[in-house]
Amino acid sequence: MSVRLAHGIGDPPADQPVDAVVALGANLGARSETLAAAAAELGRLPLTDDVRVSAPIETVAVTLAGEDVDAPRYLNAVALLRTRLAPATLLRELHRIEADHGRVRREKWGDRTLDLDLIAYGDARIDEQHLTVPHPRAHEREFVLAPWLDIDPDAEIPGRGRVDVLLRAMREDAP
Ligand code: AMP
Repeated sequence: MSVRLAHGIGDPPADQPVDAVVALGANLGARSETLAAAAAELGRLPLTDDVRVSAPIETVAVTLAGEDVDAPRYLNAVALLRTRLAPATLLRELHRIEADHGRVRREKWGDRTLDLDLIAYGDARIDEQHLTVPHPRAHEREFVLAPWLDIDPDAEIPGRGRVDVLLRAMREDAP
């Protein structure tokens, strides 16, 4: 069985709903409104329900060179959702939502009106050209771990461990 989505036929959906985790970030434009609109669009995805979104937190921009205190600050949030969309299909939908909010991919790690990352997809471990799950940097990003823990105290990153433990260790190591 395949499902017709906004942009064509997706990969076959999962037989059972999977708990997926999506990170949202915005550091340009009306950040709060953009995150709220993106969260609403996650709620409208096909084969997807039970979308829960954390409160947003404000964070310093992280670039390839490290933290950039001069760049516009980010609002970050994390959404949990139950979905039967296949991982690649879900990522494509995330890119569509980004594009709808004017995201232009000029520069990796550059400023953006909206950034959506697929952080986890159940306990799946995926290592494909365009999709790595769990997201390879999620475990070292406080702006992912903190809002995620906020809405799921038992959250775990497959292969990395519990989010509360990762976050505590990161904060203890912080200078
Ligand atoms: P970025 O510009 O930082 O949002 O990176 C987007 C690129 O990372 C796209 O080409 C995606 O295909 C790729 N990518 C790989 N794994 C993931 C993931 N888990 N979530 C989002 N993008 C991913």
